[in-house]
Amino acid sequence: MKITRITSHVLQHKLDQELGYSQQYFTARTAHLVEVETSDGVTGWGECFGPGNIALANRTIVEQVLQPMLLGRDPLAREAIWHHCYNMLRDHGQKGMPIQALSGIDIALWDIAGQVAGLPLYRLLGGPCRERIPVYGYGMMLRRVPDLAAAFRDEAAAIREAGYAATKMKVGLGPRQDVALARAVREGVGEDYRFMVDANHCYTTADAFYVGHALDELGAYWFEEPVAPEDKAGYAELRAGLKTTIAGGEAEFTRWGWKDLLEARAVGIAQPEVCALGGISEFLKVVALCHAHFVPVINHVWGSAIAVTTNMHLLAAMPDLPGGLHPWQPMLEFDTTPNRFRDELLAEPLEIQRQVRESGGSVGLPGGPGLGVAPDRDFIAHYRIA
Ligand code: CA
Repeated sequence: MKITRITSHVLQHKLDQELGYSQQYFTARTAHLVEVETSDGVTGWGECFGPGNIALANRTIVEQVLQPMLLGRDPLAREAIWHHCYNMLRDHGQKGMPIQALSGIDIALWDIAGQVAGLPLYRLLGGPCRERIPVYGYGMMLRRVPDLAAAFRDEAAAIREAGYAATKMKVGLGPRQDVALARAVREGVGEDYRFMVDANHCYTTADAFYVGHALDELGAYWFEEPVAPEDKAGYAELRAGLKTTIAGGEAEFTRWGWKDLLEARAVGIAQPEVCALGGISEFLKVVALCHAHFVPVINHVWGSAIAVTTNMHLLAAMPDLPGGLHPWQPMLEFDTTPNRFRDELLAEPLEIQRQVRESGGSVGLPGGPGLGVAPDRDFIAHYRIA
């Protein structure tokens, strides 16, 4: 079996309503799917992290830089392929877009391996380690409305009402306003419910302490990306000085980047992004490193139904840390804001919202060999911009 073609599909749709986080407001959704075709007729799918024009740049790396290295190679030799590509990319980017591009290809190779073995990905990885996965619903994105705190309070209450096991909000208006937003979310969900706060690295360490002390009082479950990902010392100071758990890592890449983050004792919850950090091959090594440092993992999840399904498999196959009769559980991050690439891409939808509602906050494991899902070709053709 040989790799015969690697194709990027960059999809985009306009949003009815502008959404924002601490760095920008945006009006369109993007998804970057990677399709790897083989001489045996088996096709694998993957996804690369990266919105908007980042996806267009990553497409060029997938098709113009990586594809020529891989045509004719055995798609099952995933480790050999990963290391060959990384060795060729190393001088040109050990983090960022080259590794995002490699991630989408690696995920597709694992999809192929599962199909060849006739096993769902989570079984190929040695799972299941759990039969169901708790789901947290993230929402409360920034919007330019007159009373955002009231809007956050109502949205948080609605996410709890929809059945999610926990919820996550954005901040980024400035420390004082952000504390008011967090209070509104606590009011919306009530006292006996987990909520998390995602700053997307917008604070100085001093401002992060100001917000973090308020989150300690509000009993937030974690404080995500409080400061710049490069500021590992700032992370460590916050972790030592706040009661609220510090989470982060979505902007970190490969085992070597994660090694530094973990050795700095920067995070209490690790959030690796499989579609960015180097794909499934590298994700497994990063989880092993996290567990070697006794840092529990809750995957960062962003993107289409391909990324969501990939993460469901990875969460199903993730060992407990620590173990026990009632072990600490990871959760599936699920964006509750509008996204057609998550809800309408697959011929057979995942129906996560329905499962969450009916089960009280969890999803079952995906079936079928490999990822067990395939995108609808007509849907891709309709939304493809490159
Ligand atoms: Ca985040």
